Amino acid sequence: MSAQRPALEGYLTEVDGVPHLLGSRCTACGTVYFPRLDSFCRHPDCDSDSFEDAPLSRRGRLWSYTNAAYQPPPPYVPVSDPYEPFAIAAVELDAERMVVLGQCATGVDVADLQVGMEMELVVEPLFSDEEGDALTWKWRPTASPLPQGEGGTVGAADGGERVA
Ligand SMILES: [Zn+2]
Repeated sequence: MSAQRPALEGYLTEVDGVPHLLGSRCTACGTVYFPRLDSFCRHPDCDSDSFEDAPLSRRGRLWSYTNAAYQPPPPYVPVSDPYEPFAIAAVELDAERMVVLGQCATGVDVADLQVGMEMELVVEPLFSDEEGDALTWKWRPTASPLPQGEGGTVGAADGGERVA
């Protein structure tokens, strides 16, 4: 079994075993920052330099999305050869009302996305190397096109013939 590590130190945390993005909250004015901010508050009416950890909402609404049709430059590590495009989502977090970019989860394509739909955070490998998996956050629709049990019956409820 390969080891797992965060691809970026300090961006993710766990609360009760569930992954969350880790931001920081100004202890004076309450403004939340992601990525974390530790120097001084950027709020124009605040001169605080005191912050506390702030695990962020795991859900939000899809604000925008796009398709990374071309391989990003380094430090991006290609996970396939040849390169396979992937979807990128900008999600407005429920509580913080801040927009956080991220790759979409494996199997989620732009065709599965629609502005305004509810998204949730998942953690997946960004890439794997000899040290194991480097983990990052990704977004997927809560009503995910990913496997969700039996392929229920849709429609055709009373599909009777109706002759006008
Ligand atoms: Zn502040």
